[in-house]
Amino acid sequence: TRPARLHRAFVCQNGSGDHRQQPIRVMQWNILAQALGEGMDSFVRCPLEALKWNERKYLILEEILTYQPDILCLQEVDHYFDTFRPVLSRLGYHSSFCPKPWSACLDVANNNGPDGCALFFRHKRFQLLGTTHLQLAAKMLETNQVAIVSTLRCRATGRALCVAVTHLKARSGWERLRSAQGSDLLRNLQNITQEAGRAAAAAPGEGEPGVGMGVPLLVCGDFNAEPSEDVYCRFATSSLGLDSAYKRLSSDGQTEPPYTTWKIRPSGESCHTLDYIWYSHQHLNVDTVLDFPTAEQIGPDRLPSYNYPSDHLSLVCDFSFCDSPE
Ligand code: NDP
Ligand code: CA
Repeated sequence: TRPARLHRAFVCQNGSGDHRQQPIRVMQWNILAQALGEGMDSFVRCPLEALKWNERKYLILEEILTYQPDILCLQEVDHYFDTFRPVLSRLGYHSSFCPKPWSACLDVANNNGPDGCALFFRHKRFQLLGTTHLQLAAKMLETNQVAIVSTLRCRATGRALCVAVTHLKARSGWERLRSAQGSDLLRNLQNITQEAGRAAAAAPGEGEPGVGMGVPLLVCGDFNAEPSEDVYCRFATSSLGLDSAYKRLSSDGQTEPPYTTWKIRPSGESCHTLDYIWYSHQHLNVDTVLDFPTAEQIGPDRLPSYNYPSDHLSLVCDFSFCDSPE
């Protein structure tokens, strides 16, 4: 029988929905690398059967196709060339993949290559202006974590938009490294958004008066950091003017969700908020946010499971530009 799917609903935000523009749907998801799930993670309450790639890949694709994002940001992708690029390419997505320099997947027998970040966008909606692959640095030293930053041009509005995807260093004890990686990413994003802003202003007919030099920015990632960590604070207070979209789900609008990942390892239950969609709040409105399944819906064995293919939940939001052209 077909396993039950997690039922999730889109929550509309106050005064949202500029009906003159079609919202931009963004999905952020750490899909769980196949090699890590089978060979490293020790999810003690998930049967190995449920992790078989030939079954699990359809659950991952089904989740993507259910929400049909315009921009899709994935971490722990170790089946880019044989699965995600060809399948999503046929569905109209252009994409870029940046493997980690020393992916832990390579330590697993019969691995399918390194895992990394991947960024997909719907070619019908966006034209690609440029892509940068970053190996994140900390104190001048290159680390094992990466990011992709793409500059897109919205075909309908002519507006430029920068989108970044990253996956910061995992585990406790590495808070200072995550903070340094976040600072390095922010510094790169300053340069890239300003350069894109200059290019957009110079392009004929593309002037955007009143929005300053930088272009709107979306940063999706598995930051491996709770909101209490330094790297979260750096993103929340940077001069890029970023806010975290999923705070909108809370009743006060100021609180992150209670979890974005929930698994059971031999060391016990691990329930944390680590994944975020950051957006420039001067430029972009959050129209809707996909809510999270309850603990009951997730079930006593948590994630991954026969019903859900990753230990991280997907984050999905609709955005629109604040000052849409008349
Ligand atoms: P990370 O700490 O960033 O973790 C890598 C992956 O492991 C992440 O995808 C993470 O998932 C997952 N993970 C987190 N916690 C656990 C856990 N308890 N059990 C199993 N998996 C877990 O490591 P790095 O990427 O920095 O390093 C990966 C490997 O690369 C190292 O093990 C090392 O062997 C090798 N390496 C080699 C170097 C060299 O010079 N040759 C240099 C650096 C690393 P999530 O984000 O979802 O938590
Ligand atoms: Ca993982």
